[in-house]
Amino acid sequence: RRATLKQLLTRPSTSRDGVPVVLLANLELPEDSAAAQQNGASGVGLYRTEFLYLNHTRAPSEEEHLADYLGILKTLNGLPLTIRTLDLGLDKNIQYLSDRLPPLTNPALGLRAIRLCLKEPDLFLPQLRAILRASAVGPVRLMIPMISTLNEIDTLLRLIQTTKRLLRTQGLKFDPLMPIGGMIEVPAAALMAESLARRLDFLSIGTNDLIQYTLAIDRLDDSVSYLYEPLHPAVLRLIRHIIEAAAKTRTRVSMCGEMAGDARYTRLLLGLGLRELSMQPGSLLEVKAIVRDSDIGALARTMDELMQGIDERSPQSLLERLAEAA
Ligand code: PEP
Ligand code: MG
Repeated sequence: RRATLKQLLTRPSTSRDGVPVVLLANLELPEDSAAAQQNGASGVGLYRTEFLYLNHTRAPSEEEHLADYLGILKTLNGLPLTIRTLDLGLDKNIQYLSDRLPPLTNPALGLRAIRLCLKEPDLFLPQLRAILRASAVGPVRLMIPMISTLNEIDTLLRLIQTTKRLLRTQGLKFDPLMPIGGMIEVPAAALMAESLARRLDFLSIGTNDLIQYTLAIDRLDDSVSYLYEPLHPAVLRLIRHIIEAAAKTRTRVSMCGEMAGDARYTRLLLGLGLRELSMQPGSLLEVKAIVRDSDIGALARTMDELMQGIDERSPQSLLERLAEAA
């Protein structure tokens, strides 16, 4: 079986009925970009940059960020790199953060990710400047995590404009058209997806957090993990809603949570309308095998029908119907 998966490496990621599906890699560490390459990723859909902040006794400098991004761009050889801006909160026990911020009662709902970046610009601006500067060297996309209000996006977009002006006066290069996207990980953002899409170049569905916040299940708490269900009808309705908002506004949409790399869900996600999935490099070939074996037209028709009575269906029956369909 491994040999057959290996053979898929150079084959296109296209369904049986000829629909191309973009398969991208998630990176936790810069070293992971080698695995992305070896498994035939078409680029990086999520680079989690937190480790840069975790392994320091102070916030990383602009030059440290930049060196890291340029190293990855080099291994990617012209393929796109989606850099997610800092997604940290106080739960990570970083001394230089806890020195300056009050303790949180609930880290998952507190000052984290974009909220922290907007509140503490001196943590964030070196990263923002480095992402922009990296965009002069290769195809970089900037992605913002944990959006929950339109105001956050508007503030961040203004900050990016100001930063670009400053870089220009300093004679530092960047791509003025670098795409800016947002992660949809909070139910409020999912419900507001159309307005977000009008402000952004792309959306990416972060199911790890979207499931956590929709179902009120702490994703790190084993005692409630039996309730963590990606196929919960409420989750599927939100995903559907995001995909429809993206289609309506002609905005690119992808998925980068663990669900995107779980081959059990590939048919369902294709049937819902996703054409771009980002996952751990080790899952790429397995998902590609299913894409190549799927009739996306048939999956879309079946999924339309299944969404009708979605509240009454068990996750297992959904998967069985989709397996029969294509
Ligand atoms: C997600 O929430 O789905 C996601 C991809 O982000 P992280 O797992 O880093 O929170
Ligand atoms: Mg997340």
